[in-house]
Amino acid sequence: MNAFSYTRATDVSSAVGAAAADATAAFIAGGTNLVDLMKENVARPARLIDITRLPLTRIEETATGGLRLGALVTNAATAYHALVERRYPLLAQAILSGASPQLRNMATNGGNLLQRTRCYYFYDTAAPCNKRQPGSGCSAIEGYNRVHAVLGTSEHCIAVHPSDMCVALAALDAVVQITGTTGERAVPLVEFHRLPGDTPQVDHVLRQGEIITAIELPPNGCADHCSYLKIRDRQSYAFALVSVAAALELDGDTIVDLRVALGGVAHKPWRDREVEAGMIGRPATVEHFRQVAADVMRHARGRGHNTFKIELATRAIVRALTTARQARRA
Ligand code: SF4
Repeated sequence: MNAFSYTRATDVSSAVGAAAADATAAFIAGGTNLVDLMKENVARPARLIDITRLPLTRIEETATGGLRLGALVTNAATAYHALVERRYPLLAQAILSGASPQLRNMATNGGNLLQRTRCYYFYDTAAPCNKRQPGSGCSAIEGYNRVHAVLGTSEHCIAVHPSDMCVALAALDAVVQITGTTGERAVPLVEFHRLPGDTPQVDHVLRQGEIITAIELPPNGCADHCSYLKIRDRQSYAFALVSVAAALELDGDTIVDLRVALGGVAHKPWRDREVEAGMIGRPATVEHFRQVAADVMRHARGRGHNTFKIELATRAIVRALTTARQARRA
């Protein structure tokens, strides 16, 4: 671990001002990923700005009937919040399928969005890795790539985003609220994370000095018909090989709205709105769910060890949609 200075910010504007003025600075909140990265010498910030005292710790209803999740609310407090449990059970399910209770008690909502890939080579500073050291190469493409991406990859990186929470947020059409030195902006969750392209070192659209202040959920939480399915190597404390956040709105058995977001298969939570739109007005049958799965996965490409993910994701989509269809609440 490198030497670093430490300061504690007391308000949002001083936090973003300090970070914008120092390209070597990093915000720290729960620290559940950053501290690991620093211990492994993958991240080497010269300055840490502690943001844990900023007033971003509330969950509030919005004027439009949605919910605003403060960036510094812990993952555990979010998952067990009464309004989240009742109106956004998909989000609660996804959060509680991730990490461990101890980590969820420390990890924050903003930090969840910013966690970095768990590609083994990214953490191994002896291995070439374009994400850690641009231009050095990708050890995973020709290496052991069982946990890697099958959608949206590039010849520079095939890493996946590790979050469960973000997969549900993508399905729920969440919006990320951001503040910087020039003001505030809002970015849909599905546009917040990037595909690797030829700049895999850039995970998301947040600029130096900007901070996530909140995540806004629109009013429709798809609470009556939703399911989060996570498939992993062990039953807890493991990242997804494949995960699916599925949600349906039905009029009888007719699909009014269908959403499928995937985790564990791409550099970002994966949605295909064209495929989803093609199902509106059709019966919510297993045959149509199979069609959705085949269409969503039509551009998938395996790299050897991870090729099984294509069939796994295809089946997981069908299962998650079938469960969502049956999940009608009393
Ligand atoms: Fe690095 Fe991405 Fe290749 Fe992993 S997949 S070694 S993170 S460039």
